[in-house]
Amino acid sequence: MKMSNPSRAAGPPLPGGLQLTKYSFGVGDRFAHQAKAQLRACLLAARLGLEIIPVWNKSNREHTIVGSKPGSVRTAAEAAVRELGWKKPFHVDADHITLETVEGFLESSDYYTLDVAAAIGKPALTSEVDSFLARHPELLERIELPGIERPLEISRPAAAQIAGKYLFAAREASRIYRRIEAAKGKGSFVTEVSMDETDSPQTPAELLVILAALADEGVPVQAIAPKFTGRFNKGVDYVGDPVQFESEFRRDVAAIAHAIRVYNLPAALKLSIHSGSDKFSIYPAIHRALRDFSAGVHVKTAGTTWLEEVIGLAEADGDGLALAKEIYAQAHAHRDELCAPYATVIDVEIAALPAPDEVQGWSSPQYANALRHDQKCADYNPSFRQLLHVGYKVAAQFGQRYLDMLDACEQSIARNVTTNLYERHLKPIFLAEQLSAAAR
Ligand SMILES: [Zn+2]
Repeated sequence: MKMSNPSRAAGPPLPGGLQLTKYSFGVGDRFAHQAKAQLRACLLAARLGLEIIPVWNKSNREHTIVGSKPGSVRTAAEAAVRELGWKKPFHVDADHITLETVEGFLESSDYYTLDVAAAIGKPALTSEVDSFLARHPELLERIELPGIERPLEISRPAAAQIAGKYLFAAREASRIYRRIEAAKGKGSFVTEVSMDETDSPQTPAELLVILAALADEGVPVQAIAPKFTGRFNKGVDYVGDPVQFESEFRRDVAAIAHAIRVYNLPAALKLSIHSGSDKFSIYPAIHRALRDFSAGVHVKTAGTTWLEEVIGLAEADGDGLALAKEIYAQAHAHRDELCAPYATVIDVEIAALPAPDEVQGWSSPQYANALRHDQKCADYNPSFRQLLHVGYKVAAQFGQRYLDMLDACEQSIARNVTTNLYERHLKPIFLAEQLSAAAR
């Protein structure tokens, strides 16, 4: 079997191996029809001189629900790159993979998000914790983080407790990493480690201990996805205290810069923000941190594009709108089973859901306005949006009928997909300075 060469599009591999660019943006394309519209958002940013690298991500869970195969993500991405003449790198992310699910992604991905959340808290041996602490006396000293007022201070008991909680997970990351390295070769892929799908957020001190442990294991981690403080619900805004988020995010960014120096981790290492779409109230804080620390970031999105597909169908009116209404009616009928797997990352208020009969009478703008994430619009309904967010299984069951309608309504969908990513995501996260410079 021919292994695809992921660095092909980006030129020969760099001497230090494949390196993730400073700014990268993860996009999900559940039905493999929007890669071009997504890439156009990066092209618009490139026109302002800003390099934002697209990473197409799809998890095993998503493939299972949609009934797609990992190779289809690369095929769609390569077609978009070819058609739009994108000359910069791009990546295909095997999102949230484990040792059990990695096999199917070995051929077509060049970016791997090793999910070790399930290994967090599996106790490490006391002897392992002791030798980790003996190896890392620097963790117990006052750690001055440039740009952060309060130094990081980790007591010995705290360090032992953190190491006990995370050493097993670091070992698990190493196991998955070795499996990929054996199949693809060192330096030929990007490694991300994710811990976001767990109960409690990680503190900057925990992040530092985890990075030290990953360095010990020889995992060349280039992106790390902690669980941040607050709720990152799917497809809607951040729920939490943006001020607290900003202070912790800045400490995380500074801790990463420190870890790169002290533990000789890849210079490209940066934070990865999962469920990063639609978190409008914290984008200014993220933007300020990137600017003040000259830091990079990876922001992962997925379902926001699927929702734009449905908005595009609704805006196309006629058969498109009719299908969008049918999707809602089915999602409403099966709301309990659709919401269950996502219970921790959605807040659907059942009483706020319009009855399918009522939606049946909606005009095209009424449907689009209820669904589109515009908090200033009086018709916007976050419960309606979140139910449809998890409702992609319904479209998957429609099969070819749904795909044909995507083709028929392509213009209206593509316009919504590109505008959503560029105007509501890339601009506020990455582009504020470029835009004000351009306006001067
Ligand atoms: Zn995640």
